Amino acid sequence: MRGTKSYAGIDYFRMVAAVLVVAIHTSPLLSFHETADFVLTRVIARVGVPFFLMTSGFFLITRYRQDGEKLKGFVKKTALLYGVAIVLYLPLNWYNGYFNEKNFLPRLIQDLVFDGTMYHLWYLPASILGGAIAWYLMKKCGMPTAFLIAGLLYLVGLGGDSYYGAVEGITLVKRFYDLLFQIFDYTRNGLFFAPIFFLLAGWMAEGKVRLSLGKNLMGLAVSFGLMLAEALLLHHFRLQRHDSMYLFLVPCMYFLFGALLQIRQGRVGLLRTAALLVYLIHPMVIVIVRLAAKKTGLWEPLVENSLGHFVAVLLLSGIFSLGGAALWERRKPKGARGKDTGRAWIELDLKHLVHNVEVLKELLPEGCRLMAVVKTQAYGHGAFAIASHLERLGVDAFAVATIDEGIQLRSYGIRGEILVLGYTAPSRARELKKYDLTQTLIDFSYAAALNRQGVPVKCHLKIDTGMHRLGVDCRDAGKVKKIFRMRRLKMNGIFTHLCCADSLAPGDVAFTRGQINDFYGLLGELTEAGIAVPKVHIQSSYGLLNHPELSCDYVRVGIALYGVLSTTQKTAVQADLRPVLALKTRVAALKDVPKGESVGYGRVFTAARDSRIAILPIGYGDGLPRILSGAGGVRIRGQYAPIAGRICMDQMAVDVTELSEISLGDVAVVICNEADCEPSAPVVAEMAGTISNELLCRLGARLPVVVR
Ligand SMILES: *Cc1c(COP(=O)(O)O)cnc(C)c1O
Repeated sequence: MRGTKSYAGIDYFRMVAAVLVVAIHTSPLLSFHETADFVLTRVIARVGVPFFLMTSGFFLITRYRQDGEKLKGFVKKTALLYGVAIVLYLPLNWYNGYFNEKNFLPRLIQDLVFDGTMYHLWYLPASILGGAIAWYLMKKCGMPTAFLIAGLLYLVGLGGDSYYGAVEGITLVKRFYDLLFQIFDYTRNGLFFAPIFFLLAGWMAEGKVRLSLGKNLMGLAVSFGLMLAEALLLHHFRLQRHDSMYLFLVPCMYFLFGALLQIRQGRVGLLRTAALLVYLIHPMVIVIVRLAAKKTGLWEPLVENSLGHFVAVLLLSGIFSLGGAALWERRKPKGARGKDTGRAWIELDLKHLVHNVEVLKELLPEGCRLMAVVKTQAYGHGAFAIASHLERLGVDAFAVATIDEGIQLRSYGIRGEILVLGYTAPSRARELKKYDLTQTLIDFSYAAALNRQGVPVKCHLKIDTGMHRLGVDCRDAGKVKKIFRMRRLKMNGIFTHLCCADSLAPGDVAFTRGQINDFYGLLGELTEAGIAVPKVHIQSSYGLLNHPELSCDYVRVGIALYGVLSTTQKTAVQADLRPVLALKTRVAALKDVPKGESVGYGRVFTAARDSRIAILPIGYGDGLPRILSGAGGVRIRGQYAPIAGRICMDQMAVDVTELSEISLGDVAVVICNEADCEPSAPVVAEMAGTISNELLCRLGARLPVVVR
């Protein structure tokens, strides 16, 4: 299923782009045909760097993100990488006599900020500067103006790059560029070159306009043809001072990136790291190949022959990089795990989330979309990890309970539709608009109050068909019609909520049918009154699993997305769901408790024999229900250990007398997320006299979330 896969096209092309950059620096065809080499290294290969800039922009630039956290993270990461690269190339700088140059200090500053201390390293400061500029333009002026400014900067850059020969005849212009070139060597930098590509990718990430693969490829062919003609003309008339920037490079990148976005598969994380490494180390490898060629007498085939040189550099860089990337990928998660899995933690298996999305989408009728309900920290799973992963899978509609949850999702960079299911004070209408959130109209007077704020707000109207909680009574068609006429409310949806869809008892099924009929009856009345019925939704998880025959525009799925049901009861459709969340802790202490002595508050557990007790550092402060005291149990090394005595705020005791080989630091599984593994969330929930939904969403407060 296309919609549930990562952007593999982007990942694969990272490697292609890295190869192109190596080509730029080794000129593979130079020994054979000068024009062919020009076309390869100065035209085709010029898509490499803008592509890398766009991969950063795609995740960085968004109109919703208002705090600077994401930018800060990006700048920090890139700066760190830049620092490492600078140090890596110091010996080479030294060898080349970099430190003996005149005006060393000003030159160093210029290189650090714009040109890079090694010829290829300009990309890193350029992406920091370009990313920051694009970010602030977006924040201060909004997308259209930001584009305009970045476009103008790009034009200025063109004048100092490929078009320099065409404009240097004008004295004033020449003076302007002379001034610029005292500050940096090329206009292909973070100021003139990078911002437009960051913005372009950020805009494409919103996905408002997505062309098909075929259309993108067609666009790419046309714009590449134009860019080729442009480059050859400029080359022919010798107008280029440098040959990185073309007018048609921008549309070319738009279609190329658009085509790559259409190619979706499993994530190929290794290629990401490897491509970056190829980019970073290949100039070093060029030096190594030259030294080796000199030493072994293979100068002719490995250096003189441009193709041989290219292949040698590419092979060696590729081997180093793939090896390095494999090591890095293996090392990375462990470091992250060590810190957060010391005491008690939530562990997410995102492969199960992917699986559940696929299974649920299979159940949906044609044209019906998944609205992922991620309220209460995505049912305790952590809204960030869940929502951002869902968005990567192609889910583009979310539901939350409160406006602040919605704003939080925006701050994570979530771009899809976000429906606020619950009450929002009408005085916050401006924020609804600012963060592009959709508000549920919970009854008539609420709709009127929101309308009075004078701000256009996207809305879904809730209809009460018998739950008698939120919504306008479905018998009140007059009021509903009035709401549709309210000027400020943009009615994008209408929905109802079923209150006993989880039950298959005949009486409950009949009640649910009644709710559905009443809802459709109201929609019929609206149509008769000439009102265009907006998007319709009725079912939540149980609505979908027990009444899959309904055909709506959305299904609001919460608990099922997380791979569990509320209880252990069966549903009409048996979906193969897999639990996403596991709750784990570690054995913090082991005690021998002699027969007759007690454990914990209230002395409710008394050892009936000489016992061994393990203390686990998790308690009701982490969301574990205290009512499980003396009832539930955990699994340590695959063996069941019952809870001994009362659960405390931060600790609990389990009886491990009958378990073999228990030692300090052993993992204790409180909720398991493997197939058919106990204790599962519904079983624990039932023991606690509640449903999985409550059990899970209470875990969100103190526990770190670790992603597997
Ligand atoms: C929470 C909620 C849902 C999701 O319910 P699940 O049973 O978890 O799928 C759907 N609709 C509304 C209105 C909700 O409040």
